[in-house]
Amino acid sequence: MPRKTRASGDRKGRKKDRAVRGALLSWYAHNARDLPWRRTRDPWRVLVSEVMLQQIQVKRAIPFYERFLERFPTVEAMAGAPLSDAIRIWGDLGRYRRVVSLHRTARIVVEEHGGLVPSDPEVLLKLPGIGPYTAGAVACFAYEGDVPFFDTNMHRVLHRVFFGPDAPAATAKPKEIRDLASRLVPPGRGWAWNQAVMEFGALRCTARRPACPGCPLRDHCEASPKMLDALAALPRAQKTARAPRYEDTNRFLRGRVLARLREEEDPGGLPLPELARRLQGEAAEVEPLRLKAVVESLERDGLARVTPAAERSVSPQAVAEERAPYAAGAEQEDPTEIRVSLP
Ligand code: SF4
Repeated sequence: MPRKTRASGDRKGRKKDRAVRGALLSWYAHNARDLPWRRTRDPWRVLVSEVMLQQIQVKRAIPFYERFLERFPTVEAMAGAPLSDAIRIWGDLGRYRRVVSLHRTARIVVEEHGGLVPSDPEVLLKLPGIGPYTAGAVACFAYEGDVPFFDTNMHRVLHRVFFGPDAPAATAKPKEIRDLASRLVPPGRGWAWNQAVMEFGALRCTARRPACPGCPLRDHCEASPKMLDALAALPRAQKTARAPRYEDTNRFLRGRVLARLREEEDPGGLPLPELARRLQGEAAEVEPLRLKAVVESLERDGLARVTPAAERSVSPQAVAEERAPYAAGAEQEDPTEIRVSLP
């Protein structure tokens, strides 16, 4: 039997839905940040912003977004450019696989959709790198469709207001949140509603420091007044759990490698030892085998090209002729004798 909560769609629930919608839309009208992607309904620009913004802070994303669209103002501009250009313009934003997917998406949109980013979430979902959140966000923020979707911030707000504290763990099932998100979208106001929930989660009902005192949703919120106590009661380890230093991670090293490759004017790229030399002082550890593993991971993601170092200066035939009589498996090749370039 479904549990009876104020999230369910009974009369009391519907009254609460209206109250929450009113309070949140009014809060948004007075508190929304003026962000570049909120000033447009251009589907390409909206798509770029949504791809860039996931797990990347708004302030950090803005200059990258502007520079990217200056170079690729239309989906055709991106589809017609080589991937290496897209990687160069993406710069140091990180999450580099996204630019590979975005580039593939641009080509599919031009070739199969006449250059128009689709408006149907089901069609959007078939494009590379586009999941349910991005599909919903494009359908809503570009085409003003009354489409339900949610990201982490929106999930948190909906959970707290309708189901109670999400700490130490969420209690609502994903389907319950999905059903709730669908029910709440006010007809004809999906754009403002989804922006409002998202903004409220980013600015007010944050993960660790929700501003509960004076919150405009406080009277309707199942988590209030327990939310702050629930967070305070989290085990210390859970509150202070720290990821390894970013500078020590392979993700950081991938970014530094791409930065060096973007700077390199020789389209043949760099030999691995030279790449390691140029990374000195930037990354804590540039041990050759680790660096090789990192460049191979970039190659798997379509972000780099790895070739045997010898391929560039000596013809394959010459190499074969030189090695055949002596090597025959007796000599171990140096696994780090490779060149790396942008694709
Ligand atoms: S009262 Fe606190 S937990 Fe509830 S919506 Fe407001 S900030 Fe979030």
